[in-house]
Amino acid sequence: MKILYGLLMASACMAQLQVGVGSAVITPDLDKHGPVYMAGFGQNRVATGVHDPLYARCMALQVARQPLVLCGVDSIGLFLDDVEKIRARITGKAVIAALHDHEAPDTMGLWGPAQGKSGIQEAYNQFVIDGTVEAARKAIASMKAARVKLARTQDAELDTFIHDTRPPVRHDSELVMLSAEDLNGKPIGTLINWANHPETLGSKNTLITADYSGYLRQHLEAELGGTAVFINGAVGGMQSPLGAKLDQPENSFERAEWIGRRVAAMAAKAVQQAGKVEIDGLSFRETTLDIPAANPGFQMAAQADLYRGRKKLNANGTTATLVGYIKLSGKNAPLLEIAMIPGEMYPELSVGGIERYAGADYPDAPLEPAIKQQMKAPFKMLFGLANDEIGYIIPKAEWDQTAPWLNNNAKRWYGEVNSVGAEAGPLINQAFAELVKGQ
Ligand SMILES: [Zn+2]
Repeated sequence: MKILYGLLMASACMAQLQVGVGSAVITPDLDKHGPVYMAGFGQNRVATGVHDPLYARCMALQVARQPLVLCGVDSIGLFLDDVEKIRARITGKAVIAALHDHEAPDTMGLWGPAQGKSGIQEAYNQFVIDGTVEAARKAIASMKAARVKLARTQDAELDTFIHDTRPPVRHDSELVMLSAEDLNGKPIGTLINWANHPETLGSKNTLITADYSGYLRQHLEAELGGTAVFINGAVGGMQSPLGAKLDQPENSFERAEWIGRRVAAMAAKAVQQAGKVEIDGLSFRETTLDIPAANPGFQMAAQADLYRGRKKLNANGTTATLVGYIKLSGKNAPLLEIAMIPGEMYPELSVGGIERYAGADYPDAPLEPAIKQQMKAPFKMLFGLANDEIGYIIPKAEWDQTAPWLNNNAKRWYGEVNSVGAEAGPLINQAFAELVKGQ
């Protein structure tokens, strides 16, 4: 691991926190950007219409000289290559996190017209880059003196929206919010962090939609005012509304809206009950690390140029990615810590609870220190797909590519096929531990 850059934004006495929000529509034009291949299930799912708009939405925070912009994008995933293009056009530091929307266009190339054919439409990827830059710049330009509330809730109902298809059944289902208003009490916006796949509409839907994320933001704005910015969390292993036991039918907009509306209602209630906090310190730190790309499927995808020049492997077969750490503090006490994780982390790597099963490929692998247990602030967020999408991040002790299968299962578990390799979990959690200690 090498430090790419670590940057500490000065924590000045009496610094006045400023907050701004911005958004831009990134809905594809099905003629101009078409054919639009929809992401996240099989090949050749061509979009036939638009149900509701896709967005890039950002919140900018500043206590000293430089803003920090946090953006959530209704996209399946943005590779570091595209994120770097966005960051290069933004003043200050930026975190760009795709929400992992499986009902949005294929910006990664894996779900094109046929096996071995990329689904990327470069004009659309460029449109997403431009839209995210626009949203970030609007957030920075609109910054004003602000007061904030931090809130969280872990209502048991949140778990009912998540079906986990692989043992151990773990969810990182806590809702964590940062809500800002100006000094006159006018709402600016709310950043909300939760973890669940936006794929309620499933694999047959051909209408572009933000899935539950759109309803979540819409209802949160109706309850709290201002602009809602959602960033997804540890969605790996598999955290999905598909298969969840709910009254609303599977694969329906009714179900997507129910999830969004209920999450928004619980989040709004928690924010309304929270007290204000004084934030006068903001630090941002990140590191680049090279992870062995052991997955033969990923190597084949690179050879077939599915990523269209993105995700170039290093000469030694590793792939470079970023891990980051943000800390907001008041009077030198940490108030909110945020982990930036470059893919779909299994929740047990976030909140703990890794299990040792018979059949594991590395039965003696040390258990990675859980990300949220490494943070000590009263409020903790984990941004999944932050600045990159390297696929599933699996605890090494649960890695299972060769039979016998975990828990004596009759067949292979789903997961490893979409992971860069067994070293991703240990390397990322170790890199994060070093970033936290470096503060
Ligand atoms: Zn996924």
